[in-house]
Amino acid sequence: MNAGADPLAAYRVDAAPWYRSSAREVELYERAWVHRLPLLLKGPTGCGKTRFVEHMAWKLGRPLVTVACNEDMTAADLVGRWLLDAQGTVWQDGPLTLAARHGAICYLDEVVEARQDTTVVIHPLTDARRLLPLDRKGELLRAHADFQLVVSYNPGYQSQAKDLKPSTRQRFAALAFDYPPPEVETDIVAHEAGVTMELAARLVGLARRTRALREHGLEEGASTRMLVYAGRLIRDGMDPRDSCAMTLTQALTDDPDLSAALRELVHATF
Ligand code: ADP
Repeated sequence: MNAGADPLAAYRVDAAPWYRSSAREVELYERAWVHRLPLLLKGPTGCGKTRFVEHMAWKLGRPLVTVACNEDMTAADLVGRWLLDAQGTVWQDGPLTLAARHGAICYLDEVVEARQDTTVVIHPLTDARRLLPLDRKGELLRAHADFQLVVSYNPGYQSQAKDLKPSTRQRFAALAFDYPPPEVETDIVAHEAGVTMELAARLVGLARRTRALREHGLEEGASTRMLVYAGRLIRDGMDPRDSCAMTLTQALTDDPDLSAALRELVHATF
């Protein structure tokens, strides 16, 4: 790396990510940011958590390092590792270390997907001391004053095996997210998919009916993200029923009865 090169250049959020707020989340985030409080964003998938963090990083002028967590992820994937190159071994910071060292917001998306032994590496960073021990490198890194840790998780998916341990979750201030109220969601779908408010409102009505199917065993109803996908296909001229079959019905379930119920909802809408 060139001396003086900005190690976070790739993580800067230059253009304002469009975000439509539903409540006071922007103000509450700003309050937490003043104290660099670690934040937990909880809510269903595709309801706008990631877009919100992108928007806040831009608003606060901080780079954003995002990590999509999964069960194969190791602590080294977050923290860093020694790599072999022509000169010998060189240390390469992982995304968490990069953010902590240089002062970015680090967003761990779907943190419960990571194994517990991976998640514990974030604990010392969420203490008042804000330290990150890099055991393999023999370094105790003190986080940059502008470092902030943000994690997301979806309480709807929780099973005993995949829950956020109290010892982890109690380190965070939390913001609860949900699908936006219908008029706000309509606005979002119209904007993101480039469709009319009338079509967006129909898609939102459909989504709300699919969400009610949770009582009938559907794990999760249609997300705002799915509506955006459906809207984009329809805007391109695809038949609305085909668009919804692809982006909603088939994506939401493999169960024949639930699929049939979803199809009926689509056909009642379009
Ligand atoms: P999550 O992180 O909760 O899974 P995302 O933030 O990725 O969800 O949202 C999925 C998509 O839905 C976004 O890419 C965006 O198009 C749209 N979206 C959802 N909520 C909002 C919102 N409040 N403002 C703007 N776009 C939104």
